[in-house]
Amino acid sequence: MNAEGKVLLVTGGSRGIGASVARLGAARGYRVAVNYVSQPGAAAAVVGEIRAAGGDAEAFKADVGDEAEIVAMFEAVDRRFGALDALVNNAGIVDMKQRVDEYSGERIARMMAVNVTGTIICAREAVKRMSTLRGGRGGAIVNVSSMAAIIGGFNEYVDYAASKGAVDTFTVGLSREVALEGIRVNAVRPGITETDIHASGGQPDRIAAFVNNIPMKRAGMPDEIAHAVLYLLSDDASYTTGGILNVSGGR
Ligand code: NAP
Repeated sequence: MNAEGKVLLVTGGSRGIGASVARLGAARGYRVAVNYVSQPGAAAAVVGEIRAAGGDAEAFKADVGDEAEIVAMFEAVDRRFGALDALVNNAGIVDMKQRVDEYSGERIARMMAVNVTGTIICAREAVKRMSTLRGGRGGAIVNVSSMAAIIGGFNEYVDYAASKGAVDTFTVGLSREVALEGIRVNAVRPGITETDIHASGGQPDRIAAFVNNIPMKRAGMPDEIAHAVLYLLSDDASYTTGGILNVSGGR
């Protein structure tokens, strides 16, 4: 396992796709920092599962929509685990199904703060620690985007789709900026995946409503997304940077 002993921080690692990344990462030998914001019990469960399987993990509470909380989290991870090797920018939110002409300013600001600014600030903190220009030993970053970046999220959440478009562009730009500093930066674009996020946007039946649009006629499972994330983090992807992998059942 090429990740043995490496340190992985997964934002939003307490549930859904992030929890799968945390568990699979631990199974490959990463020591895992599991970030969460609202559900300490879910984070503790992921940490407990990893430790029960013989791995090392710790939960870190921080709102990735808040710069000071992000900075404090990275410092806490430094103290607990030492130098960071891998970051998965997974934490993300949707909001209620609305047309653009119904959005409040607060809604848009929160969406961008968590999905875009949070991703960029977490990456900033990771680059500070990983960059060989700054005395680091390199590393890998994977950003979790969405097929919504391509499709546009119309009649549901165009603001969310636009936030993921920003994540895609950030992935390409950052990858080129740090390509000679030992850091690879890639993204995955999940299609509709079986997690709590749909209910959190007021659409618990969203998967059933959309499944016919997917060539494979099913939603993805969190582990199927996590396998792609772990590949991009791994040395198997040593020549892949600035890549954005669709993991979406064909759409
Ligand atoms: P989820 O089941 O709703 O889980 C969200 C996770 O993010 C939880 O661990 C949650 O922590 C954490 N989180 C939410 N807001 C946060 C914040 N402000 N600060 C820190 N952590 C926060 O979501 P998911 O479906 O697994 O989605 C994960 C990523 O995949 C997101 O970026 C999402 O946009 C993307 N994605 C999902 C789908 C899909 O169909 N599910 C499709 C495409 C892309 P708590 O447990 O503490 O609340």
